[in-house]
Amino acid sequence: MLTNKHIAVIGGDARQLEVIKKLVELDARVSMVGFNQLEHGVIGANKCSLSEIVPQTIDAVIFPVHGMNIEGVIDSVFSNEKIKITKEFVNSTKETCLFFTGISNSYMEDLCNSNNRKLIKLMDRDDVAIYNSIPTAEGTILMVIQHTDTTIHGSKVAVLGPGRVGITVARSFAALGAKVKVGARKSEDIARIFEMGLEPFYMKNIQSEIQDVDICINTIPAMVLDADVISKMLPQSLIIDLASKPGGTNFRYAEKRGVKAMLAPGLPGIVAPKTAGKILAKVIVEILTKDK
Ligand code: NAP
Repeated sequence: MLTNKHIAVIGGDARQLEVIKKLVELDARVSMVGFNQLEHGVIGANKCSLSEIVPQTIDAVIFPVHGMNIEGVIDSVFSNEKIKITKEFVNSTKETCLFFTGISNSYMEDLCNSNNRKLIKLMDRDDVAIYNSIPTAEGTILMVIQHTDTTIHGSKVAVLGPGRVGITVARSFAALGAKVKVGARKSEDIARIFEMGLEPFYMKNIQSEIQDVDICINTIPAMVLDADVISKMLPQSLIIDLASKPGGTNFRYAEKRGVKAMLAPGLPGIVAPKTAGKILAKVIVEILTKDK
């Protein structure tokens, strides 16, 4: 339980509502900042402004999944208010106060480092990345269905990058009956892909390996689908790029060549905000209760 813990949830989207509900269920005192346009609120949590919170009383602060901008400003889909997080605010919290964010930036790092506060970057954690790969794979399936006129079953699919997202995506498409090959650069990954019953290939051979695929799903955050590679692809093929911005595709060249290519960021929050919120809540609660 989180009885006697005071947690400030500052800004965000529908995912934060799941986090708030879980914290309330565990008896935490929750202050919600940046939720003034949320019609019904969350029973048991208190909607307020940042200035109404006494920083010394807070045990944890939860920032949105997308964090804050480099000026320290947080936005919320439930408010027009721009919430500025200052060094003074962080400095006046307890030394033991934990700060949670999805992703971080230099402003946030500096804010916490200079005040010696612990910053937990949820999206950097393996557990969050693996749980999140489930809604990401489902969102990818949705996009492929929306942008093709053939079934996934029987399609030739290449997944680039056998990481936490790539493995789940490859497994999901294979389960739907696609012929899946996976591009990797490490021999141990090649072995694992083979063990999974999928077709491995080395990324250095991408040009020849990708020539006949119908769908290419990239998870590598580096320029792997460059003009050279795309020029060898079937013009009717589809590229879904899941890698973080700017992705790993030369979108300009893809468009010129008539290959449909799209960057698809933030799928968990789009296709399954409730599940994505529950994933965050589960990990945040684990950390907060372990720290007791
Ligand atoms: P990950 O576990 O680190 O996997 C990344 C994969 O890319 C690894 O297999 C890595 O191989 C490979 N890789 C990295 N740089 C490479 C290079 N230069 N050449 C060849 N292979 C390279 O990351 P993840 O959690 O799967 O996430 C993958 C990407 O998807 C990230 O950019 C993440 O932000 C993004 N993401 C997007 C969504 C969405 O909704 N679109 C959701 C979640 C995550 P090595 O092990 O050999 O380095």
